[in-house]
Amino acid sequence: MSLVAGVDIGSTTAKCVLLEDGSIVGKSLAPVGVELVRDAEVALEKALADAGRTRGQVGYVTGTGYGRFRVTFGQFTVTEIGCHARGAHHLFPGTRLVVDIGGQDTKAIRVGEKGEVIDFAMNDKCAAGTGRFLDVCAGALGFDVDEIGPISLQARHPVKVTSTCTVFAESEVTSLVTRGKEPKDVLAGLHASIASRSYSLMQRVGISPEVTFTGGVSRNEGMVRALEKRLSLPVNVSPLSQYMGAVGAALFGAERLGSPRGPAAA
Ligand code: ADP
Repeated sequence: MSLVAGVDIGSTTAKCVLLEDGSIVGKSLAPVGVELVRDAEVALEKALADAGRTRGQVGYVTGTGYGRFRVTFGQFTVTEIGCHARGAHHLFPGTRLVVDIGGQDTKAIRVGEKGEVIDFAMNDKCAAGTGRFLDVCAGALGFDVDEIGPISLQARHPVKVTSTCTVFAESEVTSLVTRGKEPKDVLAGLHASIASRSYSLMQRVGISPEVTFTGGVSRNEGMVRALEKRLSLPVNVSPLSQYMGAVGAALFGAERLGSPRGPAAA
């Protein structure tokens, strides 16, 4: 049974990836509520349906993310830091720095030649500079979060957004628009402010190419461009970037399945 699953229970979204012989054969995204054990089950079932496989065909399950201990049907857990590094290195072998912006935290991870974690830094406990910050500000301006990146890219006169606190930023962006600033210009300022916060974290671990952007916020094209501008470097992004933790978890599982510590040799 070479089919393995990586299940990433994040603060907002559960992600599952099914890997077989190094190829991704199924994946899923599912919202996270209060019943994390059930959310993990749903993520796995959705990925199995996507792949046209059954639970009995899965040889190993690895949990990651802040809710990894609720992947109760799994055999192993790994931190999301290790998994994002591993997944990013698998998809972009030249990766030396990962910036992961998720629903409630941002991490900068320095990665070695083999995909191992050398150092990392993460934001403090508040949501400033995370997906939540963008979700709240998008909502305050009447947009869905998947709309704001493309709109920000149309800005002609970006407006500086100075509030770092999510609650203050929400009222700042609303009042800027009420006072006549264009939403696209305010959104460009918002993206630039998050790019600056992420940049400070990246500086703490050391900036060196290649840089790979992971987490749900990497789906935001405006954020990709804002980071590239702040870094003066191109940034790797994959359609699997939001799944990167689950990809890494599945890779760790595949390794264990074939290792003396894994069930294959047990
Ligand atoms: P977590 O692991 O903490 O649940 P994710 O890495 O899954 O977080 O990222 C969730 C965040 O990604 C959301 O808060 C949202 O801001 C952002 N996001 C998700 N989908 C999109 C999208 N299509 N466009 C822009 N941003 C998105």
